[in-house]
Amino acid sequence: MEIPFLLFDKSNPGIKAEMLTAFEKVYDSQWYIMGESLLSFEKKYAAFSGVKYCSGVANGLDAIIISLKTLNIGPGDEVIVPSNTYIATWLAVSSVGAKPVPVEPLKDTYNIDPGLIESAITPATRAVIPVHLYGQACEMDKIMAVAAKHNLFVVEDNAQAHGALFNNKPTGSFGNINATSFYPGKNFGALGDGGAVTTDDHSLYEQANITRNYGSDKKYHNQVKGVNSRLDELQAAFLEVKLNYINDWNKERNRIAALYKEQLTGIGDIVLPAIAPGCTSVYHVFMIRTEKRNELQQHLLKMGINTLIHYPIPPHLQQAYKDSMYKRNDFPIAEHIAGTCLSLPIYPGLTNTQINYICDNIRLFY
Ligand SMILES: *Cc1c(COP(=O)(O)O)cnc(C)c1O
Repeated sequence: MEIPFLLFDKSNPGIKAEMLTAFEKVYDSQWYIMGESLLSFEKKYAAFSGVKYCSGVANGLDAIIISLKTLNIGPGDEVIVPSNTYIATWLAVSSVGAKPVPVEPLKDTYNIDPGLIESAITPATRAVIPVHLYGQACEMDKIMAVAAKHNLFVVEDNAQAHGALFNNKPTGSFGNINATSFYPGKNFGALGDGGAVTTDDHSLYEQANITRNYGSDKKYHNQVKGVNSRLDELQAAFLEVKLNYINDWNKERNRIAALYKEQLTGIGDIVLPAIAPGCTSVYHVFMIRTEKRNELQQHLLKMGINTLIHYPIPPHLQQAYKDSMYKRNDFPIAEHIAGTCLSLPIYPGLTNTQINYICDNIRLFY
């Protein structure tokens, strides 16, 4: 049996007709950038995220960069980031000229350890970027409390957790201004690149709108040295269609995760994902850990089961961060996760037969 790591259109074949209608509407409107589809989607995505404002941008990396720019974070500033994250979180900090300062994750949830944030704070620290990694909300009460105590901004990186909750409040609604990605492979993805910032702060919202559009508040009037990073009308229209399904899709991911957990408990040395109290996960990734990761991955591949590693090299050991002089063992928890993690297929449309086949083959391996 051949099981791909990800498939986009298995769950809702009917959605294609809705997407084509959305395409036609934008095509016929003769207006392709910064129009009604964007405004309409932004309103709905703000409501989905439990905030007042949303500003659509070109991708998730830009969403973090624009968030940091609205907070005037730049050269000389430090920003606390997880040691265990996709490199985009770090790159956003670096690209505004600030310094990413890594903090290790909790060993069971893989999200940033709120108890370690304080020891990473220096007089130069301006902000913390918690990442709701693999789809699980961070413990935002603890993070907000440390940030408030030290007068730091919080910018959530919500690229992997659209629809996840902490104490019944959606991710992307806690920080001063928060970033998300609509990359096709995310739980909530466009048919191309896309991203957004979400905030309750009207002035940060206005600043984000200006920054994404050449720093311009009025045509040919430029307030700041902005960028060109806009969510286009087509992607906004596609996303508005998909927004009607995201909660169902997240439920389906949770159903699949529950089946995996049921079948994989107690098998070999497998460590299953743990969910912290008050948190929910939308299982962007179903990550298991094992000391025999590479062998298990090879075995599953031979059986037609495609898996991925999120992520094989933590940011501090990437060539791109050679200049920060980090070395092996500087962030041992992140490094251990990188060496032992394996992501199993999880997406709406994955059948029980496929899930059973995957679990049977994992059992067989051990
Ligand atoms: C995908 C991702 C991003 C970047 O999003 P893009 O749209 O690909 O630029 C940022 N942070 C995390 C945690 C991500 O998973």
